[in-house]
Amino acid sequence: MTETTVDATVRVRFCPSPTGNPHVGMLRTALFNWAFARHNGGTFVFRIEDTDSARDSEDSYLALVESLRWLGLDWDEGPEAGGEYGPYRQSERLQLYADTVERLRQADYAYPCFCTPKELEERREQARKEGRPPGYDGHCRNLSDTERDDRYRAGGRPAIRFRMPGTDFAWDDLVRGRIEVAAENIPDFVLVRGNGDPLYTLVNPLDDALMQITHVLRGEDLLSSTPRQLALYDALRGIGMTDLPNPQFGHLPYVMGEGNRKLSKRDPESSLAMYRQSGYLPEGLVNYLALLGWSIGEDREFFSQQEMAENFDISRVNPNPARFDLKKCTAINGDWIRELSEAELSQRLRPFLIAANLIADPPTSEQEEALASVVPLIHTRMDRLDQAVPMIEFLFVSDADLELDPKDVDKVLKPEAMPALEAAHNALAAVTVWDLESIEAALRDSLIDGMGLKPRLAFGPVRVAVTGRRVSPPLFESLELLGRESSLSRLQRSIESLG
Ligand code: GLU
Ligand code: ZN
Repeated sequence: MTETTVDATVRVRFCPSPTGNPHVGMLRTALFNWAFARHNGGTFVFRIEDTDSARDSEDSYLALVESLRWLGLDWDEGPEAGGEYGPYRQSERLQLYADTVERLRQADYAYPCFCTPKELEERREQARKEGRPPGYDGHCRNLSDTERDDRYRAGGRPAIRFRMPGTDFAWDDLVRGRIEVAAENIPDFVLVRGNGDPLYTLVNPLDDALMQITHVLRGEDLLSSTPRQLALYDALRGIGMTDLPNPQFGHLPYVMGEGNRKLSKRDPESSLAMYRQSGYLPEGLVNYLALLGWSIGEDREFFSQQEMAENFDISRVNPNPARFDLKKCTAINGDWIRELSEAELSQRLRPFLIAANLIADPPTSEQEEALASVVPLIHTRMDRLDQAVPMIEFLFVSDADLELDPKDVDKVLKPEAMPALEAAHNALAAVTVWDLESIEAALRDSLIDGMGLKPRLAFGPVRVAVTGRRVSPPLFESLELLGRESSLSRLQRSIESLG
């Protein structure tokens, strides 16, 4: 049953770090947040978590913005959109983080930790040997003011650690149900590095609080940070930075790739760029991403982004790992291509033909016309837009430039094909009105009826000679579009090359 209650006060966020290229896992997270916001008539916030200057890049930031646009995941607040809780790039909020940490320290929710990485490692090792938990041991928790002053005077540049309250934590996860974490599994953690860089552990929950986020939907890999974030919200309330309750959390299932391991950012089928280059439609990809953990119900797998928004119910997200299946993604994309109008499909194919140098940018009116006339012939024959290029190339290159696929030539344009090619040439040369019926009648009369050939043996060589490939739009239509002169000249060329 479709859940109908909506809550317009919902505020969710998508908050990637701009490192590397946009990938499937993060876009699934973005989509689910978007759908949850839209379903509720709430607000979708886009925040950039760029506090790690060593890893973040402007290119990656721009790619993120552009990717959300391409997928149609419009945001209500964030970069370029603005909003009353900005700025939405964390690199522009550093003063706020520094001030907040100072307040947390004043109120003793946080303390300076002077331990060096080496000391920490040695004590971890020791703990392991003695069978104690290896997390931070609270070494600097209770230094006296004099001890701290001494360390500072000696040139110490401490990290700032959050003081966990020593209580267990629990929450009702929107996807996974009740989750409980015992106090001993959540040691004090670092908020700010010794060099002053604030960490995710601080800035993410702080901004969630300040941006009044009500629901945090994110990948399961972040589940272990939730108890620490819950503790931090308590502290933020303690210092009067927020008076809101904690957000509700929902941890979205892992996405598994080949061989039952987690899909990695580095897997080629993870990369959004791969989908765009090979002609997946945003409609198709969004539809497929939606299926990674959610379903619209009743075995239905084909639905639009709008339908997803209307029906999105977080309680129906499946906590079990979702399996990524490129074949299925491609099949759904094919369904979406078939859903496009012919005019729309021409539009979407244009950049692929331009990139392949088959048409000019912008295309000439003859090229537009040729494209419009061939689109109906290939509309149902592809699952990705890039597949159109080899199929229709023959219409956009000169006779001299047409390259025949060498494999197809080997298979089909053999010496035995000579009589069929010659007969086809003669029959077509005699056609007076160059239209579909006359072309078909001429070829059938001469090759099938006249020579008694099976259609495949009759038309295969003609197809390769004229279109360059065994896979092309329907033959008679292709000949009609190509025109008499080119059709005859291409047949002639193959006859000569065999002779
Ligand atoms: N910047 C974090 C990431 O990209 C955000 C995680 C979260 O949603 O809390 O992993
Ligand atoms: Zn310490």
